[in-house]
Parts: sequence; C-alpha cells; structure tokens
Amino acid sequence: MQNTIKKVVVLGGGTAGWLSAALLQKIIGPSISIELVESEDIGIVGVGEATIPPIRHVNQVLGIPEHEFLKQTKATAKLAIRFEGWLREGESYYHTFGAPGKSMAFCHFHHFWQRARSLGHNSDLWSYDLNYLAAEAGKFAPINSKDSIIELPFAYHFDAALYARYLRSISEQLGVTRTEGIVEQVQTHEDGSIQSLQLKDGKVIEGDFFIDCSGFRALLIQQKLGVGYDDWSHLLPCDSAIAVPSERHEKTAPFTRSIARPAGWQWRIPLQHRNGNGHVFCSRYMSEDEATHTLMSNLDTQPIGEPRTVKFTTGRRRKQWHKNVVAVGLSSGFLEPLESTSIHLIQSAITRLAQYFPHDGVKSAAVAEYNQQSETEYLQIRDFLILHYIANERKGMRFWDDIRELQVPSSLTHKMALFEQTGKLDREGNDLFLESSWLQVLLGQGVEPKDYHPIANGMSKEQLIQMLESIQKVKQEPIAKLPTHDDYINGMCAR
Ligand SMILES: Cc1cc2nc3c(=O)[nH]c(=O)nc-3n(C[C@H](O)[C@H](O)[C@H](O)COP(=O)(O)OP(=O)(O)OC[C@H]3O[C@@H](n4cnc5c(N)ncnc54)[C@H](O)[C@@H]3O)c2cc1C
Repeated sequence: MQNTIKKVVVLGGGTAGWLSAALLQKIIGPSISIELVESEDIGIVGVGEATIPPIRHVNQVLGIPEHEFLKQTKATAKLAIRFEGWLREGESYYHTFGAPGKSMAFCHFHHFWQRARSLGHNSDLWSYDLNYLAAEAGKFAPINSKDSIIELPFAYHFDAALYARYLRSISEQLGVTRTEGIVEQVQTHEDGSIQSLQLKDGKVIEGDFFIDCSGFRALLIQQKLGVGYDDWSHLLPCDSAIAVPSERHEKTAPFTRSIARPAGWQWRIPLQHRNGNGHVFCSRYMSEDEATHTLMSNLDTQPIGEPRTVKFTTGRRRKQWHKNVVAVGLSSGFLEPLESTSIHLIQSAITRLAQYFPHDGVKSAAVAEYNQQSETEYLQIRDFLILHYIANERKGMRFWDDIRELQVPSSLTHKMALFEQTGKLDREGNDLFLESSWLQVLLGQGVEPKDYHPIANGMSKEQLIQMLESIQKVKQEPIAKLPTHDDYINGMCAR
C-alpha cells in the first residue's frame, strides 16, 4: 500500500456517508479527492431526525445559511427533550440544552437552589432555565446575547432523507464524486489493508483510505477486517425500533418528546411537513405486533406510511479505525436514540479523523489515539443513557422492574453516589454531556442530592431568595419578545 493518502473512498450514502464526505472534503481540502459509492437498491436506514446543538457547527463549517437549511430539510428547532412518564406515569421532566440559573464562581447554581430548598423555598429548578420556559411556551428564535444568563442553545429536527440529499448536493459542489452500485467484493493488499471495492457491474474502485459508512452491514470494518463488537445489550437491553411518519401536528413543538412505554419508549419528532414517530422496545418483553399496536394507537396524528422495524444490537466496534479503514455511523456502533447522539457521533468521528488525518500514511500512534478517544466518547454516552433507565419508579412492569436491578458500570454508580451524597457533578474529560445535562436527568429520574456546597451558605436566606427570584425574572423576560416557533420557522422559510 502506498503511504501518501490522496484518494479517499466513502462506502455508503446515508447521513454518515454524505456528512463524512462533505466535512472531510471541506476541512482537508483539495489535497485529497473523495469518491462516494452507494446503492439506491440497498437504500438508507432513513431514520435519525433529532440532533443536539453541535450540529450547528456542521452548518457553520459547510457555510449553510440557516433559512436555506430549514427550507431544504423541513427542519424545526429543538430546545430540549421532554421525558414523559420516565420516573412515574403521568409525570414529566425536561432535559434542555440550556442550563438552569447562571454560572457562579466555584460552585454550580444548583447548590444555591438546593440550599434554598433545604430552607423551605420550593421552586422548580427548570423555572430558572430559559430553554424550558421557551419550550413550554412554544416559542423560539435564536438569541444573540453577550450575557450567558440569557443564552438559548438549540439544535434541529429534520427529515433524514432530505438531509442526506441536501448533504449530497453540498458534497458534489465541493468536488466529491458519486458512484452508484452494489459493492460485491473487497480486495486487500498483502498487509490486509483495503485496496479496492468491486461493484456488481465489474467496476473496480481503488483508494488509499476508506471510510466505512455502510450502515449496520459494516462491510469493510467487520465483514472484511473482522474487528469485533462490544455488545452492551446487557446494559441497554432495547433491541428493536418501529418507525412511522404521521401527519404534521397543527403546532410544531420546539422539543422532542420521549414517552416511556411498558417495554421501552416512544419518540415524537415534530417536522414542518410531518411528525416522526417511533417505538424503541426490548423484544424479550414485547412482541413486534404488540409494539406496533402500542405505537399506532399512540400517535397524535394520522399515520402517512407503513410502520417499519429496525433491529439493532447496542454496542460499538472494538476498533473504529483499523488499518486504512475508519468506520463512521451505524457501522461503528449503535446507541439507541434516547439522547439523539448518533449523528453527533458521525460529526465527532470526522472531526477527529480530520485532526489525525493520515496524509503521509497510517501511523499506529494516531490510530491508537483515535480509537481511545472514540471509545471514551461511546462509554460516556452509554453511561448517560443507562441513567435514564435505572433510576425509575415504574413499578410492576417487568421490563422496568428488571432494569432497575441491572449491574450498572462503576463509572456511573460513582457519579450517582457523588451527586446524592454531595450534590457535586464533575465533567469527565470531554464528556459530551455537561453538568447541567446530568443534573436535569438525575433530578428528573428522582435522584436527589442530600447536601450542597458550603459556598451556598455565604449569603443570608433573604439574599439567597432575592437572588433566585431575580434570576427567575431575568430568565422570563425574553419569552414575551420571542415569536412562536411556527412563526419563526414560517418567516425563515419565506426568505
Ligand atoms: C430507530 C433509529 C432511530 C434513530 N434516531 C436518531 C436520532 O433521532 N438522532 C440521531 O442522531 N440518530 C438517530 N439514529 C441513528 C441515525 O439514523 C444514523 O446514525 C444515521 O442515519 C447514519 O446512518 P448510516 O449512514 O450509518 O447508515 P445507512 O443510512 O443505513 O446508510 C448505509 C449506506 O450504505 C450503503 N451500502 C450498504 N451496503 C452497500 C453495498 N454493499 N454496496 C453499496 N452501498 C452499500 C447503502 O446504500 C446506504 O447508502 C437512529 C437510528 C435508528 C435505527
């Protein structure tokens, strides 16, 4: 195999394939050429419609104007996820992209809130969170404020098929070439690295470096290179999802809904032209027929397609980079879409690859570093997802009763114990989820801190209550001036 990497081949044209091609071509530039191979006969998984705020960096890097993006992908804004019934039936909480209160010196806002609670001042933590207030009011517009207390971080919901198509047009404008065809054979060099892909029609596509975006098939990284898979279904036992689109809801909520069900949960993603719906469940506790029935009888609006089942095994490839192949997207692993992290994992994989790009040949230290970082990232997200399940009071339902008894990774039990005993939350390395995310889900799932940091004792009770009330007021002020979410989207799309 030659050392210099000049020709990159991307196998797969789903979100992973086209996002990888666009970002890599944009970041690395004309010193590489990219050819993407995909097969319309195989098609794409076609789900994956809710994102998290870093997606906006992708748009910035690719130079996509927001109104254009909203129009092309029928996108809506996402301020939060509302978890309904996860702790107990009939109750809900939000995991917003914002942060309650404001940043304080030396300790987090929630310690002050916790002290006020201990003094009998019972206010809802989320009432100090602008994202929550805007989500509940159905309002949205980006806020450009220099004052961090009135930030409104957001992400998008979009149509997965339109997104892949849009990314394709951007990639092609950047110079990425596309080849249609089914890869039937993969040729290797003597050292086992990939040399070329052979299509059904006999065409051979050679490359110096390959990005495997072939979805759950994992054609290169697994079928050819056999790197193995860490199966985490003992920790996150859901293994199936049924998805169905339904008519648009008259009002598009600026948040995703995640509704607990007897053997899993249901998502509702509001788009401009339709709702995305799905039911994630564990087939050991519920049959596919029953899961389909649960989904179809719990739609807000009329279905506009047939329900489709996707099977999965939660976990990750043991090596995401092996020889001259990097796996990106579903070929690299799968974590259920509870916190909408998969598209982000595509983004971060390509950003990481760009950082360690093997322009002068594959170097073992770069591969090891890449694999280490991606493993840590997966493990941190995995722990955060498990937290949603294990701390619940959904008693008398076999799935939920069993999941409460799971042997949880020690990294998570430590984090939960630290919070319960001291109220402390420390961000671990580059954990995607900040303290405010852990805080909201811990509290939302009923994990209560027994203590707070003594810094919060530094003011009198009156001063403390006054501070909390003034923060609440500042947070509420922008709401009246914000347009409704629908007005904002309509206005942008009319531009
Ligand atoms: C139920 C469910 C819900 C999800 N929800 C979310 C969400 O809300 N948010 C989020 O961030 N993520 C979500 N995801 C994940 C998200 O859908 C994926 O990360 C994303 O779509 C990327 O998929 P992909 O491109 O890796 O694979 P795919 O879309 O499956 O694309 C695979 C590509 O490989 C090609 N291919 C395969 N084999 C061959 C071959 N032999 N020859 C030629 N071409 C081939 C196919 O043609 C296709 O183009 C969800 C996933 C599932 C299963």
